[in-house]
Amino acid sequence: MTTPQDIIRRDVLAMTSYPVPDASGYVKLDAMENPFPLPAPLAAQLAEHLAGVALNRYPAPRPGELLDKLKRVMHVPANCDVLLGNGSDEIISMIAVACAQPGAKILAPVPGFVMYQVYAQLANLEFVGVPLNADFTLDTGAMLDAIDKHQPAVVYLAYPNNPTGNLFDENDIERIIAAATRSLVVIDEAYQPFAERSWMPRAGDFDNVVVMRTVSKLGLAGIRLGYLAGRPAWLTELDKVRPPYNVNVLTQATADFLLDHIDMLDAQAAQLRAQRARLAQEVAALPGAEVFPSAGNFLLVRVPDASATFETLLGARVLIKNVSKMHPLLANCVRLTVGSAEENTQLLAALKLALH
Ligand SMILES: *Cc1c(COP(=O)(O)O)cnc(C)c1O
Repeated sequence: MTTPQDIIRRDVLAMTSYPVPDASGYVKLDAMENPFPLPAPLAAQLAEHLAGVALNRYPAPRPGELLDKLKRVMHVPANCDVLLGNGSDEIISMIAVACAQPGAKILAPVPGFVMYQVYAQLANLEFVGVPLNADFTLDTGAMLDAIDKHQPAVVYLAYPNNPTGNLFDENDIERIIAAATRSLVVIDEAYQPFAERSWMPRAGDFDNVVVMRTVSKLGLAGIRLGYLAGRPAWLTELDKVRPPYNVNVLTQATADFLLDHIDMLDAQAAQLRAQRARLAQEVAALPGAEVFPSAGNFLLVRVPDASATFETLLGARVLIKNVSKMHPLLANCVRLTVGSAEENTQLLAALKLALH
């Protein structure tokens, strides 16, 4: 009789599924979700809109009207196409699959977003992680050396970076783009609503650059929609590995509806930016806490004992992310998602308990 161990890849057998802790009963500040639900009148309108969706039909593989609206609302340059993914996670997977030639590599600064490495491995590509400087700025010299040495197919730059929260220096990024003449440089702008800085206006300016976004951190994590903007020469090829019906009809219809209400989502992002400033200031005043600058809807904080802080917060029913074991540069660091004013007040009270 065959067992999974006979058939499944060794590296998959050795993996663990992506951990998502059960957060019921907790103030959930571990996954950079937007804390605000849709206003009730808008939710009712959306329900009516969704009631008209043909669930019996496959989704449009390249929904023209939705793509046009997305381009318009998100200011995608005219010389760029847009490719949709079931979250930007799926786009990261598609890029890996499309580039998975023997010996091909994917390079990114570390600590960074773990999915670049996960999907590289799953597509049998080597992942090259280039450590950031201790202050989480790019080690541009090391990046350029690694690009020269490894000639990676893909270079990821998250702007801002997760979990460190900072925006890399624009000149450093330009030098990397200029040096990566044999690579595709993917600028990951998952946190763009909180950064107020973007490479999107320049997405069509380079031979080797695409810009990736998601609506997840904007308040729509549940619908799973990511998008990639770039020159048609790249997107036409990547589209060939996209599962044909990867973005379902309810997601398409919800996005179509809510893109007409982007002002509401932008206003929520503005509130969260204000809360980020408040949280940064108040956490920095706590004994032993070092807060790093953030352009995302989260704060990276170094504390005297990350495990103890995590456990104390858990006891106070506040769920955060202990990132201290992810990378040596993150020693004793925790990541706090910026929540609503009330959630942040609870978080601060719990942090006071932990740090006093
Ligand atoms: C959250 C996140 C994503 C993935 O977002 P989804 O669209 O929800 O899959 C991509 N990149 C970074 C840096 C993120 O933090």
